[in-house]
Amino acid sequence: MIDLPAPHTRPVWAEISRSRLLRNYQMLEHLAGPDATLLAVVKANAYGHGLEGCARALAVAQQNGQAKWFGVTCVEEAVRLRTILPNVHILVMSGLCRGEAEAVLEHGLTPAVWDPAHVDLLLEAADHRAAQPGSVRIHLEMDTGMSRQGVQLRNLQHLLRMLEANSPISVEAVMTHFHTPQDRAATLDQIAQFTSAVQVLAHHGIRPKYLSAGSSADVLDQSSPEIDRLAAQYGARRMFRTGIALYGYTPAPGPNHGLQPVLFWKTRITSIREIEAGAVAGYGATFTASQLTRLALLPVGYADGLSRGLSNRSAVLIRGQRAPIAGRISMDQTVVDVTEIPRVKAGDEVVLIGKQGNETISAADHAQLSGTIPYEVLCDIAARVPRVMAE
Ligand SMILES: *Cc1c(COP(=O)(O)O)cnc(C)c1O
Repeated sequence: MIDLPAPHTRPVWAEISRSRLLRNYQMLEHLAGPDATLLAVVKANAYGHGLEGCARALAVAQQNGQAKWFGVTCVEEAVRLRTILPNVHILVMSGLCRGEAEAVLEHGLTPAVWDPAHVDLLLEAADHRAAQPGSVRIHLEMDTGMSRQGVQLRNLQHLLRMLEANSPISVEAVMTHFHTPQDRAATLDQIAQFTSAVQVLAHHGIRPKYLSAGSSADVLDQSSPEIDRLAAQYGARRMFRTGIALYGYTPAPGPNHGLQPVLFWKTRITSIREIEAGAVAGYGATFTASQLTRLALLPVGYADGLSRGLSNRSAVLIRGQRAPIAGRISMDQTVVDVTEIPRVKAGDEVVLIGKQGNETISAADHAQLSGTIPYEVLCDIAARVPRVMAE
């Protein structure tokens, strides 16, 4: 029986499999090849898996002698990661807000930069600290077609003029993000833009150490080999920024190369009752018993991140069998039908996401039933659910 970290006593928890996380990482590293660097994306609390446990485990996995890279959303997450891992490289992927450049310098963070405002903030902070030329390393992000963040090619010259010789800022990587890696034509278009950006940089005497392009999809499907050639041509290393695959899911249906889900979401049965045929269960009475029915109560609801959209649609695993969700999921509680499962009793372990016996329910199953993607299902698991590292 797992011990929940204090002060948690309510039996709802997420077990994070260290060995699966490591195996997924090693598999991705193998697929990426020895000439590439993998940046482990641990943004959004490691996709809901818990930043601290995952980052520590991954830092151990990254033993190939290469620099260790992690990617987080914002400076707040980066500062937290810095206290956990003092010596790794931390990419802050979603830009810089006022007041954050100081923390970038103080904690040795690496921001993704694409806006003149970012450069201004960094230059100001560098000035305060009398930073040495080239000591503030950035990853210059290009917008090659996603239209979300990144500098557009037509504005690149302007940005580069802000980074004149002797600037405290140096461009360690040029990065971009592919919006539809499964769409070869769209990706080739983005690669063409990215290639032009690399040429413009070279023209300005800037030779980044890394070409950072491609996420899990590009590693799994090898969908952008042109970037490898570009990197070789410019004496750079390719960097992949991999997130979802580390956690055992593919970004879209496709080969998964044996990835295994890392998170097991579990709870225990609180109590059991029987209802007669014709009786109803839950808000709105959306479940009606067709026979004498045994119901089990689970102390988990949509406030824990169990999507209300799964009401009457999904199931949980009890004693290795599927128990359908009966009626609407409440904020803090869910009722499941255990009529078909013998010997169920209060205290039995229940799997919401994961494997039990020969049955599996994955975040991808939840996503499909509630009209979203596994990323969102995993990120939605609430902060009040403790994450526990396990084998
Ligand atoms: C989230 C993110 C990634 C990781 O994407 P996955 O599909 O999870 O591998 C890579 N790059 C950027 C810029 C991101 O925001």
